[in-house]
Amino acid sequence: MAEAPVVELIDVQKWYGAFHVLKDLSLSVGKGEKVVVCGPSGSGKSTMIRCINRLEVHQAGRIVVGGVELGDDVKAIETIRKDVGMVFQSFNLFPHLTVLENLTLAPLWVKHVPKAEAEELAMHYLERVHIPEQANKYPGQLSGGQQQRVAIARSLCMKPSIMLFDEPTSALDPEMVKEVLDVMIGLAEDGMTMICVTHEMGFARAVADTMVFMDEGRIVETAPPTQFFADPRNERTRQFLGQII
Ligand code: ADP
Ligand code: MG
Repeated sequence: MAEAPVVELIDVQKWYGAFHVLKDLSLSVGKGEKVVVCGPSGSGKSTMIRCINRLEVHQAGRIVVGGVELGDDVKAIETIRKDVGMVFQSFNLFPHLTVLENLTLAPLWVKHVPKAEAEELAMHYLERVHIPEQANKYPGQLSGGQQQRVAIARSLCMKPSIMLFDEPTSALDPEMVKEVLDVMIGLAEDGMTMICVTHEMGFARAVADTMVFMDEGRIVETAPPTQFFADPRNERTRQFLGQII
């Protein structure tokens, strides 16, 4: 029997008031699969990603993460949040805490890991994102690319089995985009299950198993990258790729 999907959306609907923002979304992500989501601004990409760890609430359909269904059950939400790392466009680091303190905060207070162990883990992941020497600085003393790498390391300290990225490089100066994408490519090579909203199509070609195109709240195309880029089936996908590539 095939392994159960790690993330499954089944006919998900969401409204903001009267505005139907997510329409009939269905998506199945297997263990180790890399999904890249793209589409015009306002198409619902962030809302979909945020529904997967319940930063937003869907009103109909089902979202199942690691076999746990997201609903009103607070325990289920806690379980999923420990297992799902999220990296945002704006790095969302705590400015009054050092890099090391940002990294150890959740392991200490959410997972009750002993301090020495949490710090060791933090240094391990800072090395993995190539900035161990920044451990005792404050976020404001780092470049944007370094801050985003800290944000990735912070997520990894919770040892998630799924990582969600919402346009992680779109707030960065161009010269810093590569250092963040390289870290993400490394994660992909290590077998992490990833859902990445990004318009970095070089990255998408390098790592995606599946490309998803969203428009006006719907997934209008799901395809392997070879087909997606060479021969998109949907007219809106074609137009969009024509604009950004
Ligand atoms: P994307 O990430 O693809 O740019 P979003 O998911 O951020 O799209 O937004 C989808 C649509 O929902 C947009 O029209 C946006 O204005 C609207 N929207 C996003 N967040 C809210 C909110 N909290 N309340 C009302 N409308 C929202
Ligand atoms: Mg967005």
